[in-house]
Amino acid sequence: MRAPYQARRAVNLLNGSTAAGILVAAAGRARLSRARDGLLIGAGYRLPVPVAPAFTVGNVVITRMDAAALAAAGPLLRHEARHATQYACCGGLPMIPAYLLAAGWSWALTGDFGTRNVFERRAGLADGGYSDRPVRPAVARWQARAARLAGAPLPAAGRRAA
Ligand SMILES: [Zn+2]
Repeated sequence: MRAPYQARRAVNLLNGSTAAGILVAAAGRARLSRARDGLLIGAGYRLPVPVAPAFTVGNVVITRMDAAALAAAGPLLRHEARHATQYACCGGLPMIPAYLLAAGWSWALTGDFGTRNVFERRAGLADGGYSDRPVRPAVARWQARAARLAGAPLPAAGRRAA
C-alpha cells in the first residue's frame, strides 16, 4: 500500500471515523471486507438512509450493492475513496456537519445536494453520479447583478473630497 493511503488509514483509525463507519455498517447489517488502499467495504447495507448508492464514513465505504459490484463500479469507488481522504483532512467526524452544511449550501443554490457541495466536487461529481446543475434562476439573477456591481467603475483612488 502506498504511503499516503497508509497515512489515511492511520489517521482515520486515530480520529475514530473508521470506528464510526464500522458501527454504521453494523447498524445497517452490512458485511465488511477489505478493499484496496486500506479501505473497508460494507456491502449489503439495509437501512433506508442515506439514499445514496454508496457513502463513506472514515475508511469504510458503505453500499447497498455487493462488494464485487462496487469494486466493478470503479469511478464510484474512487469517488468514495476521495471522501475517505476528506475525513482524514477534516480530523474525522467533523467532516459530517461540514458535509451537511456544504450539502445545504448546494441545495440552496441549485436544488441539488451535490452540485455545489465542495466535498462532492472535490471527490468528482461525475464519478459520484452527480451532474453539474446550474444555479436556481433567482441565484443567477443575483449573481448577474453582483457581477455588474463589481464591474462598475469605482471612485478614483486618492482623490480628495472638495
Ligand atoms: Zn460523494
